[in-house]
Amino acid sequence: MFNLEQLVRPNISTLKPYSSARDEFKGEANIFLDANENSLGSPLVKWYNRYPDPLQLKVKEKISFIKKVPVDQIFLGNGSDEAIDLLFRCFCEPGIDEVVVFPPTYGMYEVSANINNVKLNKVPLTTTFQLDLETLEQVLKPNTKIIWICSPNNPTGNSIDREAIEMILNNFDGLVVIDEAYINFSRQQSWLSDLVDYPNLVVLQTLSKAWGLAGIRLGNAFASKEIVGYLNKVKPPYNISEPVQELAIKSLEEIGQVNDMIVTLVNERQILANALLQYEDVLEVYPSDANFLLVRFKNAAGVYNYLVEHGIVVRDRSNVIHCEGCLRITVGTPLENKKLLESLSSFNKL
Ligand SMILES: *Cc1c(COP(=O)(O)O)cnc(C)c1O
Repeated sequence: MFNLEQLVRPNISTLKPYSSARDEFKGEANIFLDANENSLGSPLVKWYNRYPDPLQLKVKEKISFIKKVPVDQIFLGNGSDEAIDLLFRCFCEPGIDEVVVFPPTYGMYEVSANINNVKLNKVPLTTTFQLDLETLEQVLKPNTKIIWICSPNNPTGNSIDREAIEMILNNFDGLVVIDEAYINFSRQQSWLSDLVDYPNLVVLQTLSKAWGLAGIRLGNAFASKEIVGYLNKVKPPYNISEPVQELAIKSLEEIGQVNDMIVTLVNERQILANALLQYEDVLEVYPSDANFLLVRFKNAAGVYNYLVEHGIVVRDRSNVIHCEGCLRITVGTPLENKKLLESLSSFNKL
């Protein structure tokens, strides 16, 4: 049976969080001399001399409206990376607890595990990039606290089958984190609507991909209000700056523009995939639910270096499991994709 109180680290359970000036005063006032801010202003035209809302309520209200998730089930981090780190810090006792990942996958789960001195068990995806539940069962221990699933998965691009994830959600007593950084490019249903059914589910999303805002650093974790409560307790008090909150609110009002970009990128993904298949050097273009393609080449290193010489950088994934000879290529603008294909044509003629 899932029991959050047993899952959380004891020191986090008893932690008394930092209480800011604005946390302690609630009410009406117009002279704020409680936070040692600079009352005169700042050198900027727009001042930013006041500390931002620690719980980012206005941003969360917009996200809540779009995602149909209550405000108290939304956590905002300085990128998803902050949410990933906080999940380790809240739920995994260094040197004792363990987690599971399914490689090849996003590298931050492993880095964060290493930073937090948490043992990471790797259960490779099958050759069709799906979960291997039998091997998973063998590595699970009573102190396995988190299972990290990335769907659509980076770098393979595919979505993970729902039934396998459901099986884990129903049978695992720790947290199941589903990283949906690329969900907007997929036809698969998000797991957000399943939060009501699973107290052990955490869904990660981000403004870095479909929303086009990698530079502002804003990631979301959606979970039960109790899990979100722990993340809020441990996060730095003002983890999302005022300019970022303002920019997020503005962008969240432009969902139409974002949807147009998603349509364009998904179309370009198909055009690019078809075009790549025409090349003799291309052995395989994997199906993608994301804004990138995993492509297997006869001579990945040669292609990679040739592209770099022509000012085009792609991601070399040829040294990760199941991705031998593979480059991960982000779908660019139509012009960028055309230039990529032209470079590949000239490589072909060498
Ligand atoms: C790009 C990416 C993210 C985004 O991380 P941010 O810190 O929000 O920019 C998260 N997860 C995966 C799998 C990604 O590929």
